[in-house]
Amino acid sequence: MDQYCILGRIGEGAHGVVFKAKHVETGEIVALKKVALRRLEDGIPKQALREIKALQEMEDNQYVVQLKAVFPHGAGFVLAFEFMLSDLAEVVRHAQRPLAQAQVKSYLQMLLKGVAFCHANNIVHRDLKPANLLISASGQLKIADFGLARVFSPDGSRLYTHQVATR
Ligand code: ADP
Ligand code: MG
Repeated sequence: MDQYCILGRIGEGAHGVVFKAKHVETGEIVALKKVALRRLEDGIPKQALREIKALQEMEDNQYVVQLKAVFPHGAGFVLAFEFMLSDLAEVVRHAQRPLAQAQVKSYLQMLLKGVAFCHANNIVHRDLKPANLLISASGQLKIADFGLARVFSPDGSRLYTHQVATR
């Protein structure tokens, strides 16, 4: 954690607090997501760690936010992601008028490519919504927040919770 200098708070969702931070040595700007142990106890820590491992092992894809590092912190741990300018909920909220059809199509295409990539890697996201779709300075959309994601087995041998939702 001392490798980073916190620049400010970006957001807070259901699973953790997100900070903008700078890597002291490289100057790289990242988003740090703190996941407290209290939260981990809601689920099984082992399972949460398995999801992180899956994300780490998933080769880089331009439509999925890049996880750069994971390290323990206090009673929980911290995930370091590439920094993104905004999320789709914010973009829609701050737009003067409804998004142009071309923009909607472009975001949708990037979303579908990201989802296809996750599914090809046996990961179901289960919490796709505008606040979890990050938008870069150049307008690129990337899927984020794999806090509810699960690894699935394509042969259908595992049982899953059949209702998973956030408002
Ligand atoms: P939670 O599980 O708490 O919902 P998220 O990963 O969705 O956590 O992050 C909460 C918010 O923080 C997002 O909606 C987004 O606005 C912001 N955020 C998350 N990751 C990044 C990132 N890599 N770059 C910039 N902002 C981010
Ligand atoms: Mg979220």
